[in-house]
Amino acid sequence: MSFLLVSGKSYLCEICNCTIQVEYEGGPALTQIGDYSVSQQLEYSKEFGQPNENPEIDGYYLLDIGVCQECYRNNILLKDQATEKNKQKLLSGYDDLISKKATFMEENMKLFTDFISKKIDAFSLDEINILIGEDFDPNLGDKYANPKKKKGLWNHYFQQEIRGKVVPYFLKCAFNDPAILKIVSVYNKSSKKQWNGLRNLFSENIISVYVPIDISQAENLHNLIQCETTVRYPTKDTPNINFYHQGEFDMDDDIEGSFLISEEDISDSINEGDIEKALKEKIQGMIIN
Ligand SMILES: [Zn+2]
Repeated sequence: MSFLLVSGKSYLCEICNCTIQVEYEGGPALTQIGDYSVSQQLEYSKEFGQPNENPEIDGYYLLDIGVCQECYRNNILLKDQATEKNKQKLLSGYDDLISKKATFMEENMKLFTDFISKKIDAFSLDEINILIGEDFDPNLGDKYANPKKKKGLWNHYFQQEIRGKVVPYFLKCAFNDPAILKIVSVYNKSSKKQWNGLRNLFSENIISVYVPIDISQAENLHNLIQCETTVRYPTKDTPNINFYHQGEFDMDDDIEGSFLISEEDISDSINEGDIEKALKEKIQGMIIN
């Protein structure tokens, strides 16, 4: 039951009670919004009703409760413009850092994959000792084994002793490479500086914020996954206005981890299987004739 026949969205302002109705491209369509959201929306339907008399057939409008643009302006922004502008600066600055990181990753993954390919090409038997942290026995414990048997022993040994260490080892090498280190640290330093500029706008750690969303933009309606059946697009005539949700920005959360580049980020984006396979073949060529 994680799908619901969805036609659009109703944005309900909790201050003035106005509703902004948004139609989705394609009209009523089965949309995957997750079990929790389906039951929540059915509850809302009972409480607030639906624009369509027969939503099961003509489609539901998802209810989204928050604050409309007018009420945000009159009740929140104009009450304390200086603080509110800083809060919006914090939110958009943080978004900017997150999207800059995504761009950096996209543009620089090749740097890491090229570095690792070169390391694998130049890989020597001596280096295995460093990788596994002990002396490697090229005979794999049986110097009389024929090539077929040795291949079996090698497969087993690689799986048990080497595989899990391959990507962490090469990433550690990459992050120690002066050229790569320089690119990453220049990037991280400038992002950190940008963040400090935002952080210093506030003395408290938990900031209550109104997070804007542009109602004319496509939205992923599932909070855990994203795919074709979870994303819906408002029709082109949808006005370009913001709707606000109240939330909290916690400065004590691992904010820096979300915009700085770390080994873990590269590791999450790299194709580990390809690297492991390439190294396995390289070593195999050296120990089995
Ligand atoms: Zn309102």
